[in-house]
Order: sequence, then structure tokens, then C-alpha cells
Amino acid sequence: MWIRDIGKGFALILLVTLLQGCSGGGWTERERTVIFRSDSVMFVTTWHEDSVQLRTPSVDVAPEEFQSEELKTLMAKMLRTVTDPSQDGVGIAAPQVGINRRIIWVQRLDKEDEPFECYVNIRIDSLFGDTRRGPEGCLSVPGYQGMVTRNNNVVISYSDLESGNKVKEQIEGYTAVIFQHECDHLEGILYVDRADTVYVNQPWMEELRQYDYTRPGWW
Ligand code: ZN
Repeated sequence: MWIRDIGKGFALILLVTLLQGCSGGGWTERERTVIFRSDSVMFVTTWHEDSVQLRTPSVDVAPEEFQSEELKTLMAKMLRTVTDPSQDGVGIAAPQVGINRRIIWVQRLDKEDEPFECYVNIRIDSLFGDTRRGPEGCLSVPGYQGMVTRNNNVVISYSDLESGNKVKEQIEGYTAVIFQHECDHLEGILYVDRADTVYVNQPWMEELRQYDYTRPGWW
């Protein structure tokens, strides 16, 4: 009887874990720690040091968490991170700050004043239009750029945090490329997987050449 109860307990834990993995349940303790203990500018994961985090597919945020303090804090810190002068990106995805949830920020270069906007439980429903080949960089692949071919048009769907409804939107041009890059992160894909050429970013090389190597603590 005792053994059987333990067995049931394990089965329940396993079931809860599996359900969380599929549909995205409440926040885990590890996620809460990353969200609340980090500085306002979060640590950005890089492909050499945090490849497991970057290669793990992300799960949805559950609707009952849309107004949670965890989500609000995470969204605010991700925005501060991508807009920080040290990063200066046009988009960021949650796995890049150590959280495997379907959350991204994209700078809407197609809108007046080019605002940053956040998308939760985002998916790309379809890709169409001409393809375009252009340079891409990534906060998680510092020091490099690559040439990637992407579609010119995307249809995205995401959750409206107020109503809980799904919203669909069509986007085109370079902003559509940013959406493709950020949504790739949610599948564990990096632009270097798609690039036909990857090269060292020249400004980064300049910075490296000018670096004072006599300064202690460089390595
Ligand atoms: Zn990226």
C-alpha cells in the first residue's frame, strides 16, 4: 500500500511535469529566481556557454499567468536588456535571458517612432512573398554576423494579455525578418543555422584591436 502510494505520487509529479512541458503551466522556481533576482538588465545567454538554454524549444505562458507579477517583471526586464546601450538590439527572445517561454520583443521599424512591442505565445502561422538575403546579428552570438535568406512576409499569431484572445497580424519587410529571427529562438534555432555565410563583425574586431591587453582580468 505504502509503495503504491509513492508510485501514485511519482506518477502525479510526472504528469504535472509533462503537462507543464507541453502547454506551459505556472512559473517554475528556477524561472522565478531568474526573473526576480536578476538586475534590471538581464544576463544574455550566449551560444558557447548556454547552448542548452538556447537550443531548448520554448513553451507557452498559461492564460492565468497573463497578469502575473512574473510576466510583467520579465517583460520589463527584457525590454531594458534589449534597449540597453551595451546590447542595442532590434529584438530579443526569452531564451536569451534564460527563460524558455514564448515571449519576444521586436522593434517595429515599420511603425512611426519605431516602438518596441512585446508578443506572448507568438507563432508564425505562415511565411510568404519574395525571399531576401541580408545580414543578421544576434545578442547571443556576439562578435559575428551572417547572411541569411528570409521571407519578406509573415503572418503571426499571439495572445492579447488583456482579453486572452488570439490576435493575427501580417507583417512585411525587414520587420518580418526580425520576427522570423526571434521566433526561431523559440524553437531553439539560431541564425547561424540558416546562414550561408558567417563572418566576424568588423566593429567588434576594431574594438578588440584597440583593447588594452595589459589591463588585468581580460580573460
Ligand atoms: Zn538572436
